[in-house]
Amino acid sequence: MSNVEIFGQLEIPNTLAAGPGPGNTDPRVLQRFAAAGMADHMQADVLRGMIEAKQMLRAIMGTSNIYTYGVAGTGWSGLDVMFSAVQPGDKVVVFVNGTFSGIDGLTVRMKAATAEELAANPMDPQPASVTIVNVPHGQSVTGEIVEKALAEHKPKWAAMAHWETGSGRINDLRGFSDACEKHGAMGLVDAVSSLGVENFAIDDFPGVHGWASCPQKGICCLPLTYAPVSFTDRYIETLRQTGTRTFVHHPILEARHWGIVDGKDVEKGTYHRTHSAYAVSAFHEALRITLQQTVAERAKQYAYHEAALRDAVTAMGCKVTSNMTSLVVLNLPEGLAGREQELVQTCRSKGFGIWPTLSEPVQVRIGILNLLNRAAVTEIVERFAAELSAMGANIDIETVRAGLERHYQTAVAAE
Ligand SMILES: *Cc1c(COP(=O)(O)O)cnc(C)c1O
Repeated sequence: MSNVEIFGQLEIPNTLAAGPGPGNTDPRVLQRFAAAGMADHMQADVLRGMIEAKQMLRAIMGTSNIYTYGVAGTGWSGLDVMFSAVQPGDKVVVFVNGTFSGIDGLTVRMKAATAEELAANPMDPQPASVTIVNVPHGQSVTGEIVEKALAEHKPKWAAMAHWETGSGRINDLRGFSDACEKHGAMGLVDAVSSLGVENFAIDDFPGVHGWASCPQKGICCLPLTYAPVSFTDRYIETLRQTGTRTFVHHPILEARHWGIVDGKDVEKGTYHRTHSAYAVSAFHEALRITLQQTVAERAKQYAYHEAALRDAVTAMGCKVTSNMTSLVVLNLPEGLAGREQELVQTCRSKGFGIWPTLSEPVQVRIGILNLLNRAAVTEIVERFAAELSAMGANIDIETVRAGLERHYQTAVAAE
């Protein structure tokens, strides 16, 4: 018998999740999570919920791809499914401009490495067939950069993050898709940060054949649920020919439980793994909320509130280097440079959940996922200003407040 202490019940406080993710889960999502009955993964309403979720996901992603569904887990789970088609020895070009695309690059290197290449450096393989194109932190991957690399290397696959959350930069999806089409590469896109935040339809980007996102950012569904993925027929056909060494994350097999069998929608899913009725209910509700609000309206709201936050931190003397609409990434005023970690730790200890960058250079990240109202943005601004002042920054809070007031006198721009 081991001597295990029985701990008290775990209490987790509510914090202001003002980071790059997870976003603030909608109370409706939590309500559906808790209200779901105990039902197994083959019960009729659970299966119906998955079929409906698949159809809603196609509408939200803007696609007629049959292979569109959710992968149980987080963003990396969906990305692992998407990168499963990459085989040892495959020629791949990956564009890296921050933490997350850097990990995408590592994932691709692990999958494309031959057995010898993997054994030579198991945690960080450097396969000859993979080219990593590094773009400096704080800069975007441009269409020209993609065009030049694909023209030179003519890879089977090309991979890029749509929005690089590490540095807060939007990469050129149009340029990426065009270059992939022109050079015959199959594009793979990490859309973890952009889905549900920007208004785009994946079918408008025919050079991209695989897409992966996450539950907890733009889709606002943190209770461990589903990472949306979508694959074109060409991706699926390619995978059918090569196969891949995974059962659970197999893009074709995983789709069966969502009622996608042999390239067709069927009435009812077949067993792949034990899905949770709670997760299905929560995810289903998150998708309903997105469709009710519409992706277009949400995208407008993000742009509107991000502009307010950006102006306010700029008025505090910070320099914003990001261009995503769910997140500002900033340098502190000169006198506070080097104290980013200290500031973030102090805020976090008070339940104000902002973040540093996770790779160099150290910057501060403040996000507004599902915080699309004046009160929430004002609270973020006030709390951030108070902590900066406490560290010695010289902030004219009345000027900051007047700027916010002016911003919120202007309505969200009409279409
Ligand atoms: C958050 C994020 C990920 C990882 O998602 P998890 O849900 O933490 O697994 C991957 N890529 C990008 C671009 C992200 O923003």
